[in-house]
Amino acid sequence: MTSDKNTQKGLYIKNFGCQMNVYDGDRMQEMMSSHNYDSVNSVEDADLVILNTCHIREKATEKIYSELGRIKKNISGKKEKTIVAVAGCVAQAEGEELVKRAPIIDLVFGPLTYHHLPDILQSFENDNLNKKKAIVDIEPPNEDKFTELPKRLKDNRAISAFLSVQEGCDKFCTFCVVPYTRGVETSRSFLEIKDEANELISTGVQEIILLGQNVNAWSNSNGKKMDFADLIYELSLLDLKRIRFTTSHPNDMNHKLISSFRDVEKLQPYLHLPIQSGSNKVLKNMNRNYSSEEYVEIISELKSIRPDIAISGDFIVGFPGETEDDFNKTEEIIKKIGYAHAYSFKYSPRPGTPAGQMENQIDEKIKSNRLQRLQDEIKRSMYKYNKRFLNENLQVLVEKETTPGYFSGRSPYLQSIHFQSESSCIGNIVDIKVLKVNENSLSGEILH
Ligand code: SF4
Repeated sequence: MTSDKNTQKGLYIKNFGCQMNVYDGDRMQEMMSSHNYDSVNSVEDADLVILNTCHIREKATEKIYSELGRIKKNISGKKEKTIVAVAGCVAQAEGEELVKRAPIIDLVFGPLTYHHLPDILQSFENDNLNKKKAIVDIEPPNEDKFTELPKRLKDNRAISAFLSVQEGCDKFCTFCVVPYTRGVETSRSFLEIKDEANELISTGVQEIILLGQNVNAWSNSNGKKMDFADLIYELSLLDLKRIRFTTSHPNDMNHKLISSFRDVEKLQPYLHLPIQSGSNKVLKNMNRNYSSEEYVEIISELKSIRPDIAISGDFIVGFPGETEDDFNKTEEIIKKIGYAHAYSFKYSPRPGTPAGQMENQIDEKIKSNRLQRLQDEIKRSMYKYNKRFLNENLQVLVEKETTPGYFSGRSPYLQSIHFQSESSCIGNIVDIKVLKVNENSLSGEILH
């Protein structure tokens, strides 16, 4: 269907949560653009509003109901009907329940079914607009979602783009809902990924970030036997400048993948490898299936072949049964690894997960206190990591002009770097001398 200004409609998507959701949101937008929907910046201007939800954080579902309350206010009094959809992991987990509690919702679909959106929207418009019966589509489909999605679009394509290669998880960490909302681990085929990478490159993308819940569990789902290290090597042969990936699980790290950080020039020296806790007792209760010693061993091997590699992590504090001694072990790990970056959260019970049923839940005040101490430790670690680059030169892939004459980009270590330039250098790799550092970003001058 071609675009016609008279029939053009507005689409507003709000993404919550992880990069997987950002990727899914982009794909929905691209898909709907061939159905005459253009992106708009406000709910008021939209004909279709999609909340692309995340179920990881505390009170995720309640937050969606509050968001729906705000949407209801914003669209009340509009002459034309605004169709309201809830997508993502909350939609997958709650299904019909969402519609029962919030009748403003017209469509509910999950991460595995969002490619059905044009069809369910059409049926809603054809049959339901007056009756207003919501459509809920969350059953895992038989077809491969990715083969149903349109090609990547040239419009507004960024320099760096996500490419989903793997979805779902079989690990069943006791605190996590992902195995229940995103389903079992599935990998896209190499050829499908390569095609999408080439589509992105043809739109001007210079850096591809491979995405998956356990991205390093990827294996070729169709055709010759390949593992994740093979995928990185094959993609490095394409005409792009940089490759990254996230998120990895320690149990799916292997020597071959570790060696890729030395052998594949385009693979950037940055690894996000969540440990969650430094205590083996807590790791066991989390069902992480590795010890802190095994984790440290992986990092040591990485640093032995790529000493400058930046390590990033995730931490949960206040997991049921966590003692002060367990928490101290987490602080020790942060010091030992020297994280360049890390995300940290207070444990909060997710409905339907084993940890949510554990009796030895930790008092909120203790959790908050530990989180504060942990975040202070992480900040010190990030600052220490960045400080080593003061007065050094870094190769920066320039992503955008933030204000006229000022640009920002990323170093190989994923640091955000700001600098001034008289000419536009977006999409280029430039040398920047670092003149100022803080824990979250660097700034410097361009070298000619
Ligand atoms: S590995 Fe654990 S935390 Fe990560 S998605 Fe799977 S169950 Fe969740």
